[in-house]
Amino acid sequence: MELSSLTAKKLSQMLRAKECSATEILESVLQQISKREKHVGAYITITEEIARKQAKSVDEKFKKGEKLSDLAGIPIAVKDIICTEGILTTAASKILKNFIPPYNATVVERLLENDMVITGKANLDEFAMGSTCEFSQFKLTRNPRDLERVPGGSSGGPAAAVAADEAILALGSDTGGSIRVPAAFCGVVGLKPTYGAVSRYGVLALASSLDQVGPMGKTVEDVHMLFDVIAGEDSKDMTTFKNKKYEKEFDIKKLRIGIYKELFSERINPEIVTSVMNVAKSLESHGATLKTVSIPHVEYLMPLYHIVMTIEAASNLGRYDGIKYGYKAKDFESVEEMYCRTREEGFGTEVKRRIILGTFLSSAQFGGAYRQKALFFRQKLAEAYAKALKECDILLSPTSATPAFKLGETVDPIEMYTTDLCTVGANLASIPAISIPCGLIGNLPIGAQLIGPEYSEHFLFAVGEFYESNCK
Ligand code: GLN
Repeated sequence: MELSSLTAKKLSQMLRAKECSATEILESVLQQISKREKHVGAYITITEEIARKQAKSVDEKFKKGEKLSDLAGIPIAVKDIICTEGILTTAASKILKNFIPPYNATVVERLLENDMVITGKANLDEFAMGSTCEFSQFKLTRNPRDLERVPGGSSGGPAAAVAADEAILALGSDTGGSIRVPAAFCGVVGLKPTYGAVSRYGVLALASSLDQVGPMGKTVEDVHMLFDVIAGEDSKDMTTFKNKKYEKEFDIKKLRIGIYKELFSERINPEIVTSVMNVAKSLESHGATLKTVSIPHVEYLMPLYHIVMTIEAASNLGRYDGIKYGYKAKDFESVEEMYCRTREEGFGTEVKRRIILGTFLSSAQFGGAYRQKALFFRQKLAEAYAKALKECDILLSPTSATPAFKLGETVDPIEMYTTDLCTVGANLASIPAISIPCGLIGNLPIGAQLIGPEYSEHFLFAVGEFYESNCK
């Protein structure tokens, strides 16, 4: 058994029992990278030498008998939209192709404080805009379960790295589904935390009111361990909160599962519906109760998401102007031409599409009408989720309507946008949601999504861990 194929939990135990060293774990992962990376393409940058130094220092600390964090010595891939001091951070965009941040994102600081070993920066759709990872301006990432298929997006690199054993854990980011969709497509676990549970400081922004960084791993237990490392208040991000307590204790006999009716409709691949219903049934056989719950706003989810997200994205991406950092066009005769050419040459098609849409929707001619209506409706949606989550403890749905697409299959942007139908609701309502593998169609993984109320991450982990150990 290769060390790279084990879970973080298992490796952590082995490290403590002195059955392996951090260096051996890292070398096993690097070996796997050298075997698989040419086919999978999970990373934009591999930080082999830095990782070797980190692993060595962990081994020395263990030797000295220091008490280390549970995840000390565990190799982790970081999505390339999260700033790493001294290490290229590109957002998979030409506009940042030479950007080396002078500081670490808070989440990266926390990985380092916990002595984790960073293996590199993983690929994504440019600025996290996409559902397939095909909008990266640098490289193609393939799904390790089927190399002719996409890994999902935008955190396709992190998901593929974990699925291919090219990392033990990964950090992704999720604005509308970008952790959960690739987790489902690649057969790994991924959590989108409650808005404010994890610091966004040093994370390049797509849509500030929706973005959250979250953990990805092979099991719920691993994702749980990583969440505990990255979550918590950060004085550099005032939207974070002190670990708020969610009172409910998990008891399978008392668990009320809400079957999210609108997300089991004819839009969803029937085999996915069956697999996700099987999750419900097996939890039911252990004592949980099932209840059909309706949140009848499904028709509005995608338009609402695209209004909120593009308006925020257009504003956030205004900073890439060729002056402060990143790419600058070569030939220009005026400042205005410099801005235009820099952005024309630096951004890819999907990013431009969203900047144009967001600028249009927030333009003065509408007097803020689109945004205001969207915010009003977003509030209603959050209330609908809160109400549904009083009738039950968790909502269950598929993570995605389909399994992984073939490479090049989703040419129509509108069609691609519907990939997030099952996931955007949790971002808009600021609540946590986790995707857990729950079956296969042929060799293609299927994800089940569990959604909980604000701050209920540990409750979701408890349900997921119960499912993993008793129902699979
Ligand atoms: N696929 C969605 C989009 O294209 C979600 C992106 C994300 O979560 N970063 O916007």
